[in-house]
Amino acid sequence: MTAGGRQPVAILGATGAVGQRFLALLAEHPWFEARELLASARSAGRPLRDACEWLVPAPRPAAAAELVVREVGAPVESALVFSALDATVARDVEETLARQGKTVVSNASAWRMDPRVPLVVPEVNPEHLALAAAQPWSGALYANPNCSTIGLSLALAPLVAAFGVVAASVVSLQAVSGAGTPTRRSLELVGNVVPWIAGEEQKLESETPKILGRLVGSAAAGDLRVEHAALEVGAQCNRVPVPEGHTLCVTLTLAREARAAELVDAWRSFRSRPQELALPSAPDPVVIVHDDDASPQPALHLEAGGGMAVHIGRLKGAGRTWRFTTLSHNTLRGAAGGALLVAESVRAGA
Ligand code: NAP
Repeated sequence: MTAGGRQPVAILGATGAVGQRFLALLAEHPWFEARELLASARSAGRPLRDACEWLVPAPRPAAAAELVVREVGAPVESALVFSALDATVARDVEETLARQGKTVVSNASAWRMDPRVPLVVPEVNPEHLALAAAQPWSGALYANPNCSTIGLSLALAPLVAAFGVVAASVVSLQAVSGAGTPTRRSLELVGNVVPWIAGEEQKLESETPKILGRLVGSAAAGDLRVEHAALEVGAQCNRVPVPEGHTLCVTLTLAREARAAELVDAWRSFRSRPQELALPSAPDPVVIVHDDDASPQPALHLEAGGGMAVHIGRLKGAGRTWRFTTLSHNTLRGAAGGALLVAESVRAGA
């Protein structure tokens, strides 16, 4: 702990789109403080202010700007590590740190589907955090889900609890910032739609049933595991020229018939452990339902709840078949903010 009582943390991939979001959020965080920044050899040896262009629409924190970036693989002091590493390098680096006794909360996809690793949206499946106790490392590894999957899971969880959901078909409209630091390829998004995002459809389809799954077995018997939900998810993902915010057009089949007012009531009354514990990054309300025809929109609604709420609108349907639109923030709720909420949940014993 520092003199002010905040716990020092290390950020892997601190120079990237998600890493910078961590730094902006941690500047004001009551529990955690960014003390160590790591990235590739390209950035190492320079203070953050010189190592990368600041991309986040929030002030660059003065203290973090002066921290010298070290190369990933250098020794890490902090007990808590947030990883915003490129997926190509995350797997080995994160496991090594967990072996060294660190608590690692990762945004990368490398470990998400490993049965030993909790894949957690803290309002949806906080009980899955218990899986970490049986991991083979002296530390622990927690995974934050894919950014679109987090929005979908938050929209589905209240309906799963109230009515059951047997199938969901999703068409996504995903922001440019979801593709990381802008590159020359970002130019292909100017006035364009790209109907493919590498690996994204499989992530929505495989991660959602794990998140909505049931924790079964027991730690004492050594067979604690997640039984994936019997929910069929089909996804088509598109990159659109929007700076931040992933929109999903969802069609779903409920297990039993319901009325529109009941769906709205399930969403609006949804609260969970992060809200009960008043965790620093927990939004309240979690789900914001819009009644007007032209909502939600990234340009208008994304920042509500500190970018941690999920928005729902355009509800239509009847009986067991329903359609709606969701919107969530990809680098806040879908990445840095979501990972912070996981770490807060772990610390609070949620
Ligand atoms: P990004 O902007 O491309 O940043 C990648 C980070 O990884 C940079 O700090 C980069 O350091 C570092 N890195 C790249 N190659 C490396 C290497 N060989 N060794 C060490 N460090 C290396 O990507 P991002 O959008 O922030 O995404 C980071 C992770 O979060 C990815 O796994 C991504 O899938 C996931 N994620 C992203 C979003 C989103 O909305 N953007 C949402 C959820 C999850 P340098 O600057 O030194 O190259």
